[in-house]
Amino acid sequence: MTQDIETFDAIVIGSGQAGNPLAKALAEQGMKTVMVEKNLIGGTCINTGCTPTKTMIASAQVAHTVRHAAPYGIKTEKPQVDMKKVINRKKEIVEMFRNSSKDGLEKQEKLDLIYGTARFIDHKVIEVELRQGKTRKLSADKIFIDTGSRTLIPDIEGLDQVDYLDNTTILELEELPAHLLILGGGYIGLEFAQMFRRFGSEVSIFQQDDRIAPHEDPDVSEVLTDILQQEGIKIYLNSQVNAVNKTKEGMTLSGSFSGSQKNFSGSHLLIATGRMPNTKALQLEKTGIKTDSEGHIQVNDKLETNITGIYALGDVKGGPQFTHISYHDYKVVKQNLLGDGGASIQDRILTYTVFTDPQLGRAGFTEKQAKDKGIRYKVAKLPMEKVARGIETGHTAGFMKALIDESNDKIIGASIVSMEGGEIASALLIAMMGGLTYQQIRDGVFPHPTLAESLNNLFMTV
Ligand SMILES: Cc1cc2nc3c(=O)[nH]c(=O)nc-3n(C[C@H](O)[C@H](O)[C@H](O)COP(=O)(O)OP(=O)(O)OC[C@H]3O[C@@H](n4cnc5c(N)ncnc54)[C@H](O)[C@@H]3O)c2cc1C
Repeated sequence: MTQDIETFDAIVIGSGQAGNPLAKALAEQGMKTVMVEKNLIGGTCINTGCTPTKTMIASAQVAHTVRHAAPYGIKTEKPQVDMKKVINRKKEIVEMFRNSSKDGLEKQEKLDLIYGTARFIDHKVIEVELRQGKTRKLSADKIFIDTGSRTLIPDIEGLDQVDYLDNTTILELEELPAHLLILGGGYIGLEFAQMFRRFGSEVSIFQQDDRIAPHEDPDVSEVLTDILQQEGIKIYLNSQVNAVNKTKEGMTLSGSFSGSQKNFSGSHLLIATGRMPNTKALQLEKTGIKTDSEGHIQVNDKLETNITGIYALGDVKGGPQFTHISYHDYKVVKQNLLGDGGASIQDRILTYTVFTDPQLGRAGFTEKQAKDKGIRYKVAKLPMEKVARGIETGHTAGFMKALIDESNDKIIGASIVSMEGGEIASALLIAMMGGLTYQQIRDGVFPHPTLAESLNNLFMTV
């Protein structure tokens, strides 16, 4: 076998948010590098995650604004949603981002790009099933796994008999669902729910837990529930769907909903019940890489697996699954292998934005996380109804909330449900990074009338 194995300095599997920049950085340093991608350059974020969803959410936002123009003194016609145009706009933006990533990889010297599916066949030996059917065997001392995650399909009777949608297929729908049923009230389910409601679909969310966005503080779940329900989205909590049946119009879900047996019918069904790592096809056992019970690759705080020289980055290693986490993973590996060293994933503050409208901007701890860590904290909370910018623009739903460590007055968490909530949470993230106290922000000078100015008032509530 050894004769037909091609040897490289580094192999990168998966062209996601960590894999792309890492492959380029390694090649730039003169390492003979190969990138293996089985599908589209750019991975989930660019092709079926962040970019397409945020592009389509922008279309849905326009429809919503037009529909609600009257209170601002603006007369409009009822908006007509042209799904083909919505999808085409999304396609153009996705292709632009993807082509830019592809060009970057193709132009990089010392970097080979191979389209195919990689799997381990021996210690640090990979076989790639090429798209055109043949195989190539590759080996390297350094191997980086960035194979991402995919929709977790629950085991429900009859589900395989219906044409259900996931985050990839729903983005190609050129017809508007009459009634979109969504299994899962997490971030992905909520973003799609509001998007399709604003396009004009009836939308029902079925959530197993007793609240949507269950990883957030209960007041966040509550305010998001109110906002979505006010737009006409139906939310069924404590839902246990046991069976799916195909009907002429679409499908019927049956099961227990808040303790009663019921059926719900819809035209389309989106599965948004979680993500699972793309590890099974990798045959990790051939090289002895350890995974957890869900298949995530186990790594240390420098992202190295139990096998020296093999690293895992991004969603595939579990933990928070966001593009900026995957990108930061790349930076950690790069600094440790090509830079001064000393980088770790331990010290990063978790931040993310859920692109509902209003957004949920998050940074640092939730109240539960602070309690679990035994931190005594104070809460600063300001309803958006008291924010001048919110009142002037007609965006008064939600609140700003921050957690303050009682021992040193530093900010340790932010949950901002507001217009541009992600930007305000980022401002508080910077305060956390800089170790500012809440009094420094309370007494700081911000431009009037911005959302940021309301951070004065937020911390005056303490
Ligand atoms: C609908 C949706 C919306 C999202 N919105 C946001 C958002 O707004 N903000 C945010 O931060 N995050 C968002 N995310 C999460 C974000 O997209 C992911 O966390 C991120 O893309 C993960 O990147 P990654 O580098 O881990 O892997 P990925 O980007 O998933 O890349 C993995 C790549 O590996 C390839 N691959 C897999 N197996 C193999 C194999 N055996 N051989 C060769 N190649 C292989 C895949 O084809 C893929 O291209 C969203 C996700 C979804 C699903």
